[in-house]
Amino acid sequence: MAEGTLAKLARIRGGELSAAENVASALERIQELDRRINSFIELNPNALAEAEAVDRKIKRGERVGKLAGLTIGIKSNINVAGLRATCASRTLQNYVSPYDAEVIKRIRAEDGIIIGMNNMDEFACGSSGETSAFGPTDNPAAPGHIPGGSSSGGAAAIAARLCDLCLGTDTGGSIRNPASHCGIVGLKPTYGLVPRQGLIDLGMSLDQIGPLSADVAGTALLLETIAGRSDNECIMLKVDRVNYSELLREKSLKGMRIGISEKFSELTDPAIMKVIDGQIEKLRDLGAEIVEVDLPNLERGLSAYYLIVSVEFFSGTRKFDGRKYGRRIEDVCGEEVLRRILRGRYISQKEYRGKFYQRALQVRTLVRRELLAAFERVDVIVGPTVPKLPHRLGTKITPMEMYAYDYLTVPANLAGICAGVVNAGRVNGIPVGLQVQGRVLGEPEVLRVMQALEAAG
Ligand code: GLN
Repeated sequence: MAEGTLAKLARIRGGELSAAENVASALERIQELDRRINSFIELNPNALAEAEAVDRKIKRGERVGKLAGLTIGIKSNINVAGLRATCASRTLQNYVSPYDAEVIKRIRAEDGIIIGMNNMDEFACGSSGETSAFGPTDNPAAPGHIPGGSSSGGAAAIAARLCDLCLGTDTGGSIRNPASHCGIVGLKPTYGLVPRQGLIDLGMSLDQIGPLSADVAGTALLLETIAGRSDNECIMLKVDRVNYSELLREKSLKGMRIGISEKFSELTDPAIMKVIDGQIEKLRDLGAEIVEVDLPNLERGLSAYYLIVSVEFFSGTRKFDGRKYGRRIEDVCGEEVLRRILRGRYISQKEYRGKFYQRALQVRTLVRRELLAAFERVDVIVGPTVPKLPHRLGTKITPMEMYAYDYLTVPANLAGICAGVVNAGRVNGIPVGLQVQGRVLGEPEVLRVMQALEAAG
């Protein structure tokens, strides 16, 4: 078992492992392994110098932040000053960020070291990591298979232990889907909990930035660093910072009510469901009460999601008209991005008759109401993350088959609730993640359930 995030942090703070050594060994591993995995598309040339500055603070006995010396990969749709935020697209190939996104400022304030920019599906449109203009990413936990997407690079980097933590984004499952396929931990925060200033958006009513890590403690640590009110942003929830790591000291699941739904087995490969059912039994043994909840329209979320995300993406990409960033998106983007732009434009044109978009919003309300009603009876809902196993890299699949990876993840985005993923086991040697959905601001319960399962092994 590799060293946990908190144990490494303690060694750095205690001067046993220097931040510079931690960075140097991450860079060595990247050098050695990433040519094959392709999880980073740019490295931070100042990482070592930044780590040395943290080491000096530790030597002088000064207070250091809660991420002191940990290496952090950033999805390429988040602005990090001086590095490229390409969104893995030729559209933004030469765009060097002029500023740090709010989440990056918060990571730096806690002495985390940005190690580089992670590969991803182009403009976060995808579920496989194959649509990047920088080439596909391999899955270190199941070589030759897709790592999942769109936060493909971050999840693969964590799985291969190329860095300690990563920031991903999740609009319809892009943190949870790759976390599941790569056998790691990830969390999509409640909509409005994490500031998105400095994120290049895919669907602004759905996007959230969130953590990826090898263990639940790492996810809690990065989440508490980036979450909480920001005066820069009007659509954020007005919530103060929460110390999630502290809340994780509560280990028991006694008294916790955990929802399950028949819907999940209808939508999921039976071999995956078997692994998930094993985890549900474990939760029962740990003292939780398992309650059946009704989610009759869950699967309708998928088509509503793809309509909404296409309209929002179309509108968001109008700024890439070639004048500011040098290239018109339609001239240089890949097939899936173009498909969404054209779909979004078509739906927007038809909107005056309320043909598609208005209906999609109605379905969104329906899915949200059903989930919120379920959360009146339970604290969390557990089930599978992805309904099928990841395909082999390069396999030709239809757009609908690609979208079908997202059946179980889009409802949380539509409803604005939070959802985490923790490894549940393997099917044919390929990791399968358990999804734990929580109510609005239910991150403490989600993290507790994930940690209990992680500890139970
Ligand atoms: N796979 C979904 C899509 O392609 C989700 C993407 C995401 O969450 N960024 O839209």
